[in-house]
Amino acid sequence: MLTDYHLHLRPDDDGTTAAEYFTAANVDRYRAVAAERGIGELGVSEHVYRFAQAREVWDHPFWQENAVDDLDAYCELLRAEGLRVGIEADFVEGREDRMANLLDAREWDYVVGSVHFLRDKAVDMRGDWDVWRSADPERVWARYFETLGEAARTGMFDILAHPDLVKVWGKGAPAPDGDLRRFYELAMDGIAESDVAIEVSTAGLRKPVGELYPAPAFLEMCLDAGRPVALSSDAHVPEQIGFEYDRAVEWLAGAGVTEIAVFSGRERRLEPIG
Ligand SMILES: [Zn+2]
Ligand SMILES: [Zn+2]
Repeated sequence: MLTDYHLHLRPDDDGTTAAEYFTAANVDRYRAVAAERGIGELGVSEHVYRFAQAREVWDHPFWQENAVDDLDAYCELLRAEGLRVGIEADFVEGREDRMANLLDAREWDYVVGSVHFLRDKAVDMRGDWDVWRSADPERVWARYFETLGEAARTGMFDILAHPDLVKVWGKGAPAPDGDLRRFYELAMDGIAESDVAIEVSTAGLRKPVGELYPAPAFLEMCLDAGRPVALSSDAHVPEQIGFEYDRAVEWLAGAGVTEIAVFSGRERRLEPIG
């Protein structure tokens, strides 16, 4: 079994409307690539902040600007198209109850949890909200992994997305020196106490960092903590479905991972990879 659960039906850019992208014809384009690449389970996880219903979760200007589409129409389309129904939900510190209300009111196959924001600054966004405009890498990395651990601990998420996203810019942002496990450790209590699956994402290979998410040492720590693995591309266009999966599968085999998590109705089972 191969899965692609963390994918988007459109790029994150402005002007990518639901009317244009949340259509059966667009879904067909994704399905065609998935079939070609032998991906048996396809699910979509659009950013929660692009839906009007998320406006009441957080008053951040970026969210307020982006929250325009109807979440229920989106769920309905995925269900009608026979896709797994997912969502990429941010962990927003202090807004857990509001996010839980939004999520609990709907039926998902899985919820992908992401840490993009540390307070009101984003680790993976250039422009006004870029944390790297003025930040000490030691503090950002520590804060990022502490927050990731908190996100896991909430139990709100089935899959922890791109777990070491903080490395996204590679040499394009300041990074701490030395053994990075001192940062990973900060997330591990929360991860070990949770029931979350750890996403192995090939998206990092398309980003300036040019690496899979997460780093091998991070994955190893999660495996030691008994966490299962979920596999995704974080595609934003059809051609990115199953992107570089050969590399991910080979790496997982080397790490002794033989099964991946498969979800239905927020229940998880494990299936042999491949
Ligand atoms: Zn993300
Ligand atoms: Zn995503």
